[in-house]
Amino acid sequence: MSRKKLYISSVMFEATRKCNMQCDHCMRGDAQNISMKKEYMDSFLENVDHIQSLGFTGGEPTLPDGLKVMNDFADIAEEKNIRVDDFWIITNGKVWTDEIGTTLERIHGLVKDPIRKSTVEISRDQFHNSSKIQRDVFSWNLEKMIFLDSGGIERQKFKILQRSEVLPDKHILKMGRSIKTGVGHAGFTFKAPPMNYNPETVHLTGGNVYVNCKGNVIWGCDWSYRQQDIRKNVIICSVKDDLHQKVNSYFNKEMWKDK
Ligand code: SF4
Repeated sequence: MSRKKLYISSVMFEATRKCNMQCDHCMRGDAQNISMKKEYMDSFLENVDHIQSLGFTGGEPTLPDGLKVMNDFADIAEEKNIRVDDFWIITNGKVWTDEIGTTLERIHGLVKDPIRKSTVEISRDQFHNSSKIQRDVFSWNLEKMIFLDSGGIERQKFKILQRSEVLPDKHILKMGRSIKTGVGHAGFTFKAPPMNYNPETVHLTGGNVYVNCKGNVIWGCDWSYRQQDIRKNVIICSVKDDLHQKVNSYFNKEMWKDK
């Protein structure tokens, strides 16, 4: 008898570690010349049949490598008939091309609920928005995204969120590039993951599962590249492992009781 596949409440794919900006506060760290391989995504999705919330992150996910990853996801999801309830993406909004619009529309097309809008969230703060050139480019991008008929995304399918804010230093995580630049003070203490795995229903709920460019399945999304790579306790398993068995042991409450 074939085994039931997982329902996961939130999955984020680290589409690429490449980026077209170098923000002082970047919690990921310096950009790396790697992107998600299709085989990693394929292995991970072999175990999954329902994702409630789907996100793509980076790095900058709208770069060409990121768009390829999103299209790879769409190919696999269509082939394996994977259900997606909600789609969102965070971008620095520095570049906008017709191909970005087409790709986002394709992922939105996987969401079966016809009235649910997908979300494009554009990071705007003192780091992303620090020069007049970026401000001008951003205004132009936003206008194009909302109003273009060809290549732009349609207003009725997407909501555009602009996080226009000044980030207080105490809220910026001291990790990644912020260690070098000296901005940011917020610490992060690793505690038991606030996630639930029910082996009967095969539901994994209550937090983010993050699949990274190195082919690892990580608990949570707020980790620098370095932490993802060296902190063994945030790595649930490799995408090549038996996800059911590894998830079951990683989120076993007994294991975390005294931590
Ligand atoms: S914060 Fe985002 S846009 Fe800025 S360098 Fe990091 S990944 Fe790139």
